[in-house]
Amino acid sequence: MEYRPLGKTGMQVSALSFGASSLGGVFHDVDEQTGIRAVRTALDLGINFIDVSPFYGLTKAETVLGRALAGVPRERYFLATKCGRYGAQPEDFDFSAERILKSVDESLSRLSVDYLDIIQVHDMEFGDIRQVVAETIPALLKVKERGKARFIGITGLPLVMFVRVAEQIVAGTIDTILSYCHYELNDTSLLAILPAMEQRGIGVINASPLGMGLLSVRGTPKWHPAPDEVKERCRRAAGLCQTRGSNIIKLAVQYSLGEPRIATTLVGTASPENIASNVAWAAEPIDQQLLNEVLEILKPVHNVTWQQGRPENN
Ligand code: NAD
Repeated sequence: MEYRPLGKTGMQVSALSFGASSLGGVFHDVDEQTGIRAVRTALDLGINFIDVSPFYGLTKAETVLGRALAGVPRERYFLATKCGRYGAQPEDFDFSAERILKSVDESLSRLSVDYLDIIQVHDMEFGDIRQVVAETIPALLKVKERGKARFIGITGLPLVMFVRVAEQIVAGTIDTILSYCHYELNDTSLLAILPAMEQRGIGVINASPLGMGLLSVRGTPKWHPAPDEVKERCRRAAGLCQTRGSNIIKLAVQYSLGEPRIATTLVGTASPENIASNVAWAAEPIDQQLLNEVLEILKPVHNVTWQQGRPENN
């Protein structure tokens, strides 16, 4: 496993990391024991960074992750969770200082740990950016002062938000960003903000290299927000890989790990077998010929995304 520095945090994180939304059954029902084995397999294979949120499975993912990590020496893994998002509806977001402070304590209790490595604002585009800057992030600074988290991060879909928030806060306040669906075979728009993040010493976490299921033969779950043309092109690309005796998931994992300025890429799966495949694929060279053909199929939808959150935040 390759390890890379995460901004200025001093953390050396595995290039491939564990997305624990899978433990909450976000994509399909997950058997708890299998999920626990998936976490243990990931750690045994050198993955050392885990990302979760109270939102995933409406607290189930944090609870299962806490059980999976019981007895594992705390220094063996870096743990990131989030706050501010507690459901799928607009009213399920709460970025107030009061809720944030309570949320962190609840997460620590579910995860059965004394501290988090990173506490992140979850999907900040659903909130009022002024509140995020003036209230949420200051509350997280208190969390940090109290020793409950070592670093502060922000997460969301619209890339413009990372730059806006970074510009509005004192340098050094935000340690990491978590961007998703923006560095994968069909979308590399994350590249555009890497210099701005690097300049501010902010570490970059990439998530959903499979586009939350877009890049798969199985196709997307019903709730998937991508435009139909993107889904169709991704399905075609997956089909091509299959006819070549390969697998788009392999290509997608390898592709997303190929950008060294991105510290780590979170893949979500609660299957120990999938974890083992992903780790093995990460160590193999990419099939350049197949990659070129896949990129050609995806070209018409390259960087085509969807809007999320408040219109003014997109
Ligand atoms: P993903 O792109 O990682 O895709 C997950 C899907 O890929 C699942 O259906 C899984 O079963 C499948 N998969 C993974 N490896 C496989 C393999 N080897 N073979 C077959 N199928 C395989 O999407 P994701 O889970 O949404 O994202 C990963 C993680 O990133 C999440 O768990 C979460 O931690 C993080 N994330 C955070 C945010 C945020 O903070 N706003 C948003 C999205 C994702």
